[in-house]
Amino acid sequence: MSITRRTLLLGAGTGAVAMLLASCTPEPTPEPTKTKKPVPKPTAPSNVPSAAGWARSTWSTDPYSFGAASYLPAGSDPQQRDVLADPVMQRLFFAGEATDAGNPGTVLGAVDSGRRAGLAIVSAASESERVAVVGAGAAGVVAARLLADAGHTVTILEARERTGGRILSQSDDEWPMPAQLGAWLLGEAQVDALHDRLISMSTDQISLDSATGWSKDGETETIDGEPIAQAVEKASGLPTDVSLIEALTQNGADPEEAELTAALAWLSATTGVDPERASSWYPPDFAPDALNGLTGDLGEFINEHLADLEVTLASPVVRIAYDDRGASLRIGTGESLSFDRVVVAVPVGVLQQQGIEFAPALPFAHRGAIAALASGFIETVWMRFEEPFWDTEALIWHVVGGGGLIRTWLNLQPATGEPILVGLVGGQAAEQFASLSDDDAQVAARESLAFFAPEEEADN
Ligand SMILES: Cc1cc2nc3c(=O)[nH]c(=O)nc-3n(C[C@H](O)[C@H](O)[C@H](O)COP(=O)(O)OP(=O)(O)OC[C@H]3O[C@@H](n4cnc5c(N)ncnc54)[C@H](O)[C@@H]3O)c2cc1C
Repeated sequence: MSITRRTLLLGAGTGAVAMLLASCTPEPTPEPTKTKKPVPKPTAPSNVPSAAGWARSTWSTDPYSFGAASYLPAGSDPQQRDVLADPVMQRLFFAGEATDAGNPGTVLGAVDSGRRAGLAIVSAASESERVAVVGAGAAGVVAARLLADAGHTVTILEARERTGGRILSQSDDEWPMPAQLGAWLLGEAQVDALHDRLISMSTDQISLDSATGWSKDGETETIDGEPIAQAVEKASGLPTDVSLIEALTQNGADPEEAELTAALAWLSATTGVDPERASSWYPPDFAPDALNGLTGDLGEFINEHLADLEVTLASPVVRIAYDDRGASLRIGTGESLSFDRVVVAVPVGVLQQQGIEFAPALPFAHRGAIAALASGFIETVWMRFEEPFWDTEALIWHVVGGGGLIRTWLNLQPATGEPILVGLVGGQAAEQFASLSDDDAQVAARESLAFFAPEEEADN
């Protein structure tokens, strides 16, 4: 038996019985901290102008997300999501994209998870119970709506000063369409599936359906997912699950090679995975070289669901104490509130960083599932220029070679009539990008665009 400082403190706040329970419960072994690669100071190339308009996300470092989309690291399996979704004492019901094995890491998965959690409470609860929903993202608001419609008294506690979570359409005069800093690249099948669930996402869409590769020598072939597919196929026969990078290396590929690096960057930018960690047995889908972008205010369905519901903003839940009779929530402001049941609809990154303390500690299975899943990183940057400095009509650009952090760019000029470029960066590069100051991030973004500006020879 070992007692960590954390369980001891936890026990001290919850009385003698809880102290005993907590002290018998070892913390799951944390993953060794990865040595982070130092981020070289970016230098702005003189041929890429400063942006006239600029917006960026920082989901990787945001304490209310700590990531963009969950994924399965090597050695994990999709059942961990179901384990996390299992109700705890019929009092705590976890929701959120990470708990949906069908469509994890997506808006559709979040919506389905909220519905599942809401229905589970409806079947467990008596009439008119008091239910708290922690988190007003897609999962939380869907659960809240379902529970309110079933006659329960629902209180939504949201940490941020806004609702919507990882859906964030930033509208102001600066942009001809909202700058989408979270989810917006939803394929038609996803939009249709959401529509079937009575969720109407924006009907305005742009099709990003022509892609090109770009190196220091100009236009080159676009990326090819075939080496990744072959490595995954081969790795499926191995006795143990290995990471994507390990699978590629074992299959004779060189992940440092420029084309493959660009393909892996695209995989990370569209799914959030770090190829050095991602499972090759349960790999993320390699997105086709064509995307569909939703251009309206994607928060509308969130507001529709919340309509008459009570939402308390700027109220991070820091502690949930529960037993077989109910749950008590402590808010960051120090206030405590009691409920019959709770939907915990926060990102898995928040649970991993112990943004919420549970008393007693969650069952082993739940803690194991939280530790087993990975929180993947995606960051988005929107840049509007006075005039285009590039010379390609292609809508998706893959940067092949060079040392820039952002290797995927979307050219919105043909769709919006304005010189707007959207950079997508995923995995470790996204984490590095999020850690930059705003000034350094702008420089890093311009550095990543150097190959597209013809007049200056960029280093490779
Ligand atoms: C850059 C980016 C691009 C993406 N692209 C796509 C895409 O193209 N297609 C797609 O389908 N999906 C995409 N996704 C994923 C999609 O956005 C998410 O899967 C989905 O929005 C998650 O919804 P959720 O309700 O599970 O979590 P969230 O939306 O994160 O909601 C959780 C809520 O909990 C709140 N919260 C956190 N901690 C606390 C606390 N302690 N107390 C109270 N509240 C708390 C948060 O503030 C947040 O509002 C993308 C995500 C990102 C970041």
